[in-house]
Amino acid sequence: MVMPAIATRTYKLFEKDSSFRKLIKRMTTKLKKMNDPMKRAHFVHQKIDHEIKEQFKNPSVQTLVQCKKGCSACCHSQVAITEGEAQILAQRINEGAEVNYERLHLQAKAGTSTSAFFKMSFEDRACAFLTDRGLCSVYEDRPSVCRTNYVLSDPKNCEIRAGENPTVQLLNTFSADSWVYSLFQLREKNGALAPSLLAILEEEKKQASKAFPWSGPDQSIDS
Ligand code: SF4
Repeated sequence: MVMPAIATRTYKLFEKDSSFRKLIKRMTTKLKKMNDPMKRAHFVHQKIDHEIKEQFKNPSVQTLVQCKKGCSACCHSQVAITEGEAQILAQRINEGAEVNYERLHLQAKAGTSTSAFFKMSFEDRACAFLTDRGLCSVYEDRPSVCRTNYVLSDPKNCEIRAGENPTVQLLNTFSADSWVYSLFQLREKNGALAPSLLAILEEEKKQASKAFPWSGPDQSIDS
């Protein structure tokens, strides 16, 4: 799972349209000019938010979209992220964002395998950033795919439980999906949220212990 499902579906729907392919090329070219993966991700997040804001100016969209603050059914799915997005999330953790390490480690074991991820219980699949109050602890910096999920059907169906395959009708977020697809197409180090983020955190820890070999409780000079 290195490409996000919804953005890929949108791409496949329009890939035969030459003006759509030109649009993706223009977006990708613009993103390639930014060398910093974090900068690229921040830029795309802003673009997505802008596109979604535009869509929500439509009163029908406001009425039909069922997503409400505190509903976190879709936060129990595997989230595809880019290298830049993983770096942003690691930075938020270092700044003190709430994170559930138990779930992060558990979900990292699934790697990028969607089937291994969905073999876990619904509770264990809760995103490591999902708080007990059902809120996202990194909302301002949430990954691009989390910014484009708006459901028109019953939000209950977003809870994918074992053995179920419910039908979910999503808001068509074509413009935002195009930015998501362009970002992922650069193939920085795309992956799933838990393993990608954990790899960065572990590398940071390794570097820190090299720089400060005598620090930390396990390095006590009394032991
Ligand atoms: S990052 Fe936030 S919005 Fe995205 S799945 Fe996790 S809790 Fe939900």
